Amino acid sequence: MSSQPVWGAATDIGTRRASNEDSFVAEPPVFMVADGMGGHAAGEVASAAAVSALRRLVTAQDVREPDVQRRLEAARSLLQALPPTLGRSPGTTISGVVLTSRDGVPHWLMVNLGDSRTYRLQGDVLQQLSVDHSEVQELVDAGHISPAEAAHHARRHVVTRSLSAASSLAADYLLLPVEPGDRMLVCSDGLTGELDDAMIAGLLRSRPHPQDAAEALVAAAVAAGGRDNVTVVVVDAPQP
Ligand code: MN
Repeated sequence: MSSQPVWGAATDIGTRRASNEDSFVAEPPVFMVADGMGGHAAGEVASAAAVSALRRLVTAQDVREPDVQRRLEAARSLLQALPPTLGRSPGTTISGVVLTSRDGVPHWLMVNLGDSRTYRLQGDVLQQLSVDHSEVQELVDAGHISPAEAAHHARRHVVTRSLSAASSLAADYLLLPVEPGDRMLVCSDGLTGELDDAMIAGLLRSRPHPQDAAEALVAAAVAAGGRDNVTVVVVDAPQP
């Protein structure tokens, strides 16, 4: 790869929560967000475990799906070893990209488990790459509700897959060639719960530097209500 990506990251506890249970890693080639679940310490411990396991891939070359899978398994072992006094079963989402290469060609390896999200902005088009593992996504897939209805559905926060001691770890993977000008957005649901895709795309397009974009998105989500922790990682493709 002839140059490094440029990236930025920001996180905020929001206005309602007592702690920030989101974690992230934004260090080449790993750009991931984890949203912990389980309440109190459990969620923080779970998202931190996922992120610390994935951080082992920082500076790694040509990361492949099994490499990520092994790190997620390691994170799950950490969760299994936690004392039961932590309370409800800790779990976490994980979403994001690893910048890798195939036959010398730069690629994004997208990883998703749960309802944090990974998007790609190309020009004016913002495309959601990850598919939520959530009850409302299943209702959308079955044609029972529209995506717009899903955004306001009472059970929109119910996740059907996550990284936890009990889960089978069926993460989704997607390998995409890096296109010039790609801007990737990785976020927890504290962003997408407050801002619609058009607002997100507008802010992403209006801030040339990824750090400014990440901070603007987090600030906008907090200003819109900040009902959940909000975490954003923005990474621009390396120049060819
Ligand atoms: Mn959340």
